[in-house]
Amino acid sequence: MYTTGQLAQKCNVSIRTIQYYDRRGLLHAKRTENGLRHYNDQGLKQLQEILIYKQLGFNLKDIQQIINDTDNNTLKSLIVNQRRKIKQEIKDASEQLASLSQLETFLNKHSDFPGNISQSIFDKIKKTKKLKQLRIKLLLIGISIDFILWGSVLYFLFYQGNLIWLLLGILITVALTWYITINYYHHTCYICPHCSHQFKVSFSNWLFARHTPNTRYLTCNKCHQKNYCIEEYY
Ligand SMILES: [Zn+2]
Repeated sequence: MYTTGQLAQKCNVSIRTIQYYDRRGLLHAKRTENGLRHYNDQGLKQLQEILIYKQLGFNLKDIQQIINDTDNNTLKSLIVNQRRKIKQEIKDASEQLASLSQLETFLNKHSDFPGNISQSIFDKIKKTKKLKQLRIKLLLIGISIDFILWGSVLYFLFYQGNLIWLLLGILITVALTWYITINYYHHTCYICPHCSHQFKVSFSNWLFARHTPNTRYLTCNKCHQKNYCIEEYY
Protein backbone atom coordinates (compact mmCIF):
# COMPACT_ATOMS: atom_id res chain seq x y z
CA MET A 1 0.00 0.00 0.00
CA TYR A 2 1.12 3.54 -0.76
CA THR A 3 0.17 6.83 0.80
CA THR A 4 -0.53 9.74 -1.56
CA GLY A 5 2.96 11.09 -0.89
CA GLN A 6 4.65 7.75 -1.59
CA LEU A 7 2.70 7.29 -4.82
CA ALA A 8 3.56 10.84 -5.89
CA GLN A 9 7.26 10.21 -5.26
CA LYS A 10 7.20 6.87 -7.06
CA CYS A 11 5.61 8.36 -10.19
CA ASN A 12 7.36 11.71 -10.00
CA VAL A 13 4.19 13.82 -9.82
CA SER A 14 2.86 16.22 -7.19
CA ILE A 15 0.51 15.21 -4.38
CA ARG A 16 -2.01 17.74 -5.73
CA THR A 17 -2.02 15.95 -9.10
CA ILE A 18 -2.92 12.65 -7.44
CA GLN A 19 -5.61 14.33 -5.36
CA TYR A 20 -7.01 15.91 -8.50
CA TYR A 21 -7.09 12.59 -10.40
CA ASP A 22 -8.77 11.06 -7.37
CA ARG A 23 -11.46 13.74 -7.34
CA ARG A 24 -12.01 13.23 -11.10
CA GLY A 25 -12.57 9.51 -10.46
CA LEU A 26 -9.47 8.40 -12.37
CA LEU A 27 -7.84 6.86 -9.30
CA HIS A 28 -9.52 4.96 -6.53
CA ALA A 29 -7.99 5.16 -3.06
CA LYS A 30 -8.90 3.18 0.00
CA ARG A 31 -9.54 5.32 3.06
CA THR A 32 -7.87 4.43 6.34
CA GLU A 33 -9.67 4.81 9.68
CA ASN A 34 -8.25 8.30 10.09
CA GLY A 35 -9.44 9.32 6.61
CA LEU A 36 -6.09 9.14 4.76
CA ARG A 37 -5.94 7.83 1.19
CA HIS A 38 -4.03 4.65 0.43
CA TYR A 39 -3.36 3.10 -2.96
CA ASN A 40 -2.55 -0.52 -3.81
CA ASP A 41 -0.46 -1.84 -6.72
CA GLN A 42 -3.50 -1.56 -9.00
CA GLY A 43 -3.64 2.15 -8.13
CA LEU A 44 0.07 2.52 -8.97
CA LYS A 45 -0.47 0.77 -12.30
CA GLN A 46 -3.49 2.97 -13.03
CA LEU A 47 -1.51 6.16 -12.34
CA GLN A 48 1.37 5.01 -14.56
CA GLU A 49 -1.15 4.30 -17.31
CA ILE A 50 -2.75 7.77 -16.90
CA LEU A 51 0.68 9.43 -17.14
CA ILE A 52 1.52 7.56 -20.35
CA TYR A 53 -1.78 8.67 -21.91
CA LYS A 54 -1.04 12.25 -20.81
CA GLN A 55 2.35 12.07 -22.53
CA LEU A 56 0.63 10.87 -25.69
CA GLY A 57 -1.44 14.06 -25.63
CA PHE A 58 -4.82 12.73 -24.45
CA ASN A 59 -6.87 14.99 -22.17
CA LEU A 60 -8.39 13.83 -18.87
CA LYS A 61 -11.83 13.35 -20.44
CA ASP A 62 -10.32 11.00 -23.05
CA ILE A 63 -8.34 9.18 -20.36
CA GLN A 64 -11.49 8.72 -18.29
CA GLN A 65 -13.19 7.11 -21.33
CA ILE A 66 -10.18 4.87 -21.98
CA ILE A 67 -10.10 3.68 -18.38
CA ASN A 68 -13.84 3.03 -18.24
CA ASP A 69 -13.76 1.06 -21.49
CA THR A 70 -13.50 -2.68 -20.89
CA ASP A 71 -12.24 -3.54 -24.39
CA ASN A 72 -9.84 -1.28 -26.30
CA ASN A 73 -12.30 0.22 -28.78
CA THR A 74 -12.31 3.72 -27.23
CA LEU A 75 -8.51 3.77 -27.13
CA LYS A 76 -8.29 2.65 -30.76
CA SER A 77 -10.61 5.39 -32.01
CA LEU A 78 -8.89 8.01 -29.81
CA ILE A 79 -5.51 6.96 -31.26
CA VAL A 80 -6.86 7.57 -34.78
CA ASN A 81 -8.13 11.03 -33.73
CA GLN A 82 -4.92 11.87 -31.90
CA ARG A 83 -2.80 10.87 -34.90
CA ARG A 84 -4.94 13.07 -37.16
CA LYS A 85 -4.63 15.99 -34.71
CA ILE A 86 -0.83 15.66 -34.47
CA LYS A 87 -0.48 15.43 -38.26
CA GLN A 88 -2.50 18.65 -38.57
CA GLU A 89 -0.27 20.33 -35.97
CA ILE A 90 2.84 19.25 -37.91
CA LYS A 91 1.28 20.64 -41.12
CA ASP A 92 0.41 23.94 -39.39
CA ALA A 93 3.92 24.19 -37.94
CA SER A 94 5.57 23.59 -41.34
CA GLU A 95 3.28 26.23 -42.88
CA GLN A 96 4.36 28.61 -40.11
CA LEU A 97 8.00 27.82 -40.91
CA ALA A 98 7.41 28.47 -44.62
CA SER A 99 5.65 31.77 -43.78
CA LEU A 100 8.59 32.80 -41.61
CA SER A 101 11.01 32.18 -44.47
CA GLN A 102 8.73 34.05 -46.87
CA LEU A 103 8.46 36.94 -44.41
CA GLU A 104 12.25 37.07 -44.15
CA THR A 105 12.66 37.10 -47.94
CA PHE A 106 9.88 39.69 -48.25
CA LEU A 107 11.49 42.00 -45.67
CA ASN A 108 14.85 41.74 -47.41
CA LYS A 109 13.29 42.82 -50.70
CA HIS A 110 10.58 45.27 -49.60
CA SER A 111 11.69 47.23 -46.57
CA ASP A 112 9.31 50.02 -47.60
CA PHE A 113 6.51 48.38 -49.56
CA PRO A 114 4.09 51.01 -50.89
CA GLY A 115 1.04 48.72 -50.80
CA ASN A 116 -2.11 48.74 -48.69
CA ILE A 117 -0.56 48.96 -45.22
CA SER A 118 -3.84 48.17 -43.45
CA GLN A 119 -3.62 44.56 -44.65
CA SER A 120 -1.66 42.05 -42.66
CA ILE A 121 1.79 41.26 -43.93
CA PHE A 122 0.96 37.54 -44.22
CA ASP A 123 -1.99 38.32 -46.41
CA LYS A 124 0.35 40.33 -48.57
CA ILE A 125 2.88 37.49 -48.79
CA LYS A 126 0.19 34.99 -49.78
CA LYS A 127 -1.15 37.33 -52.45
CA THR A 128 2.33 37.97 -53.84
CA LYS A 129 2.85 34.21 -54.11
CA LYS A 130 -0.54 33.64 -55.76
CA LEU A 131 0.05 36.46 -58.24
CA LYS A 132 3.39 34.90 -59.15
CA GLN A 133 1.70 31.51 -59.67
CA LEU A 134 -1.03 33.14 -61.81
CA ARG A 135 1.57 34.87 -64.01
CA ILE A 136 3.49 31.61 -64.48
CA LYS A 137 0.28 29.75 -65.40
CA LEU A 138 -0.72 32.42 -67.91
CA LEU A 139 2.79 32.52 -69.35
CA LEU A 140 2.74 28.75 -69.94
CA ILE A 141 -0.65 28.97 -71.65
CA GLY A 142 0.71 31.90 -73.71
CA ILE A 143 3.66 29.79 -74.90
CA SER A 144 1.25 26.96 -75.83
CA ILE A 145 -0.82 29.46 -77.83
CA ASP A 146 2.29 30.44 -79.85
CA PHE A 147 3.06 26.79 -80.57
CA ILE A 148 -0.50 26.01 -81.67
CA LEU A 149 -0.77 29.10 -83.88
CA TRP A 150 2.64 28.82 -85.57
CA GLY A 151 2.31 25.05 -85.80
CA SER A 152 -0.97 25.25 -87.67
CA VAL A 153 0.25 28.08 -89.96
CA LEU A 154 3.52 26.28 -90.84
CA TYR A 155 1.70 22.99 -91.35
CA PHE A 156 -0.69 24.69 -93.75
CA LEU A 157 2.02 26.55 -95.70
CA PHE A 158 4.77 23.94 -96.02
CA TYR A 159 2.95 20.63 -95.89
CA GLN A 160 -0.14 21.62 -97.89
CA GLY A 161 -2.22 20.84 -94.81
CA ASN A 162 -5.95 20.96 -94.78
CA LEU A 163 -7.46 24.43 -94.28
CA ILE A 164 -9.69 22.97 -91.56
CA TRP A 165 -6.61 22.39 -89.33
CA LEU A 166 -5.45 25.98 -89.84
CA LEU A 167 -8.90 27.31 -88.91
CA LEU A 168 -9.06 24.97 -85.93
CA GLY A 169 -5.61 26.18 -84.79
CA ILE A 170 -6.71 29.81 -85.06
CA LEU A 171 -9.96 29.03 -83.21
CA ILE A 172 -8.10 27.33 -80.32
CA THR A 173 -5.63 30.25 -80.21
CA VAL A 174 -8.45 32.80 -79.97
CA ALA A 175 -10.27 30.76 -77.28
CA LEU A 176 -7.12 30.34 -75.17
CA THR A 177 -6.17 34.01 -75.53
CA TRP A 178 -9.66 35.00 -74.40
CA TYR A 179 -9.39 32.56 -71.46
CA ILE A 180 -6.05 33.93 -70.20
CA THR A 181 -7.16 37.54 -70.64
CA ILE A 182 -10.41 37.02 -68.67
CA ASN A 183 -8.56 34.96 -66.06
CA TYR A 184 -5.92 37.65 -65.61
CA TYR A 185 -8.59 40.36 -65.33
CA HIS A 186 -10.65 38.47 -62.75
CA HIS A 187 -7.69 37.61 -60.52
CA THR A 188 -6.04 41.00 -60.34
CA CYS A 189 -6.86 44.24 -58.61
CA TYR A 190 -4.81 47.43 -58.19
CA ILE A 191 -3.46 49.54 -55.35
CA CYS A 192 -3.35 53.27 -55.75
CA PRO A 193 0.16 54.56 -54.81
CA HIS A 194 -1.40 57.88 -53.79
CA CYS A 195 -4.08 56.79 -51.29
CA SER A 196 -3.35 53.03 -50.90
CA HIS A 197 -6.93 52.20 -51.94
CA GLN A 198 -7.45 48.76 -53.48
CA PHE A 199 -9.75 48.75 -56.50
CA LYS A 200 -10.83 47.06 -59.71
CA VAL A 201 -11.67 48.81 -62.99
CA SER A 202 -13.96 47.90 -65.88
CA PHE A 203 -12.70 45.30 -68.34
CA SER A 204 -12.29 47.80 -71.20
CA ASN A 205 -10.40 50.32 -69.02
CA TRP A 206 -8.16 47.50 -67.80
CA LEU A 207 -7.53 46.01 -71.24
CA PHE A 208 -6.48 49.23 -72.97
CA ALA A 209 -4.50 50.77 -70.07
CA ARG A 210 -0.75 51.25 -70.43
CA HIS A 211 1.12 48.84 -68.20
CA THR A 212 4.46 47.56 -66.95
CA PRO A 213 5.07 44.00 -65.65
CA ASN A 214 3.82 44.95 -62.14
CA THR A 215 1.69 48.06 -62.63
CA ARG A 216 -1.11 49.48 -64.78
CA TYR A 217 -1.85 53.14 -65.55
CA LEU A 218 -5.32 53.56 -64.04
CA THR A 219 -7.54 56.15 -62.38
CA CYS A 220 -8.12 55.39 -58.68
CA ASN A 221 -11.85 55.28 -57.95
CA LYS A 222 -11.32 56.87 -54.51
CA CYS A 223 -8.92 59.79 -54.95
CA HIS A 224 -9.44 59.97 -58.77
CA GLN A 225 -5.73 60.41 -59.43
CA LYS A 226 -4.22 58.69 -62.44
CA ASN A 227 -1.12 56.68 -61.61
CA TYR A 228 0.78 53.51 -62.33
CA CYS A 229 -1.06 51.35 -59.80
CA ILE A 230 0.46 48.24 -58.24
CA GLU A 231 -1.00 44.96 -59.39
CA GLU A 232 -2.18 42.55 -56.68
CA TYR A 233 -3.85 39.12 -56.58
CA TYR A 234 -7.63 39.32 -56.13
ZN1 LIG B 1 -6.21 56.75 -54.82
